Amino acid sequence: MQLSTHDLERWDKEYVWHPFTQMKAYRREKPLIIERGEGSYLYDIEGNKYLDGYSSLWVNVHGHNHAELNAALREQAGKIAHSTLLGAANVPSILLAKKLVEITPQSLTKVFYSDSGSTSVEIALKMAYQYWQLKDPVRFSGKKNKFISLREAYHGDTIGSVSVGGMETFHHIFRPLLFERLETPAPYTYRLTENNDEEACKALCLDALEALLKERHEEVAGLIIEPLVQGAAGMITAPDGFLRGVRELCTRYEVLLIADEVAVGFGRTGTLFACEQEGVEPDFLCVAKGLTAGYLPLAATLTSEEIFNAFLGEPEELRTFFHGHTYTGNQLACAVALKNLELIEQTGLIASLEKKINFLAQKLAPFRTLPHVGDVRQRGMMVGIEIVQDKASKKPFPIHMQVEHHIILHARRNGAIIRPLGPVIVLMPILSMSLEELDRLTDITYKAIETVTAQTYSALK
Ligand code: PMP
Repeated sequence: MQLSTHDLERWDKEYVWHPFTQMKAYRREKPLIIERGEGSYLYDIEGNKYLDGYSSLWVNVHGHNHAELNAALREQAGKIAHSTLLGAANVPSILLAKKLVEITPQSLTKVFYSDSGSTSVEIALKMAYQYWQLKDPVRFSGKKNKFISLREAYHGDTIGSVSVGGMETFHHIFRPLLFERLETPAPYTYRLTENNDEEACKALCLDALEALLKERHEEVAGLIIEPLVQGAAGMITAPDGFLRGVRELCTRYEVLLIADEVAVGFGRTGTLFACEQEGVEPDFLCVAKGLTAGYLPLAATLTSEEIFNAFLGEPEELRTFFHGHTYTGNQLACAVALKNLELIEQTGLIASLEKKINFLAQKLAPFRTLPHVGDVRQRGMMVGIEIVQDKASKKPFPIHMQVEHHIILHARRNGAIIRPLGPVIVLMPILSMSLEELDRLTDITYKAIETVTAQTYSALK
């Protein structure tokens, strides 16, 4: 059957409920229907070509339609697609767990699989809670049942991960369904200080966290944080030393540290894992997204010998971790993840990033001079450009003017797909992008911001 563009667009609007999408607004516009990808480019069903400036939601590492990843997938599919980890093991999941333990911070020695960033967080939360109960059932009975997270935190969409979330827009409607969370300020230097004073911001945030821990640490099982960059919150980049400071406080007050590297892991911040940059050893590490280079859903929660050992011993039934998703340790996903990690090493991807990161920084400098750009934040290959009505007041444009939406549509018409997060335009280039492609992506973005903000501002007056 020959499928027409018209039919696909109609059926998309009729049958598909899109995530994080106001469907009434979605239906007013022409859908973007992607049909194939090649390297750094996506192609829609009409053959239009776009630079993938959001790494297909922050997952892609080596480019689309990658010959070796495809081959790894085909080879595994020729053996078996899936079996179960309940009462059985499989080869790719064993090899991948061993590899993950080798490449992540030293304290992490055990791997628990799941299938999305959200579930990797759920697992860390449940394990952390159960750990304290097993460690000392008398001392911690009825205690250590709360978690700390940062203001504007985002850790996923399932109820547990939403419970530790702090984004009003996404989370407030579900509050009555959630467990209690304790909040500590996020190091949002642009908003918390007058002159982007990172040291002052760090001190303020660490002092607030210490005050909270001092008062309530007995109630707290763990603190969850995105190391170095709070992605969904709008690419909030933490001052140097903030993560280390958080680690020290958690240790001092007997609170487990959960590092959510779902977005920042696998090279995004310039090192394989963000924790490495501050020599931080978390008690849990959550990874997903880039784990399979954008091929298949797979996640892992890594933890330490100390946590794992609490689940051994007597009585055995109480020391079981009752959690496991049907596709846990899926063989196709683990096989492609192994090939991804092999490619990262073989191609010297991490070493190649320094040049790209510096180039990006150089290309981003002129954005700061645009009249409606309040802040430009970059950490590795993660960029947030905060759009404001005017720099002095730092006030965003009124929501109904949809300035960020019009910016991304402008960019799309000029051949790049990017996404906003509230008032922040986000660039998450594929890590394998060439300097020429990064050059084009930033040029398209600059033009889109310059043109659309000027038009919107004059409409406002
Ligand atoms: N944690 C972080 C930091 C994330 O950015 C995301 C997704 N953007 C998640 C968790 C949830 O991952 P998933 O969408 O795969 O459930």
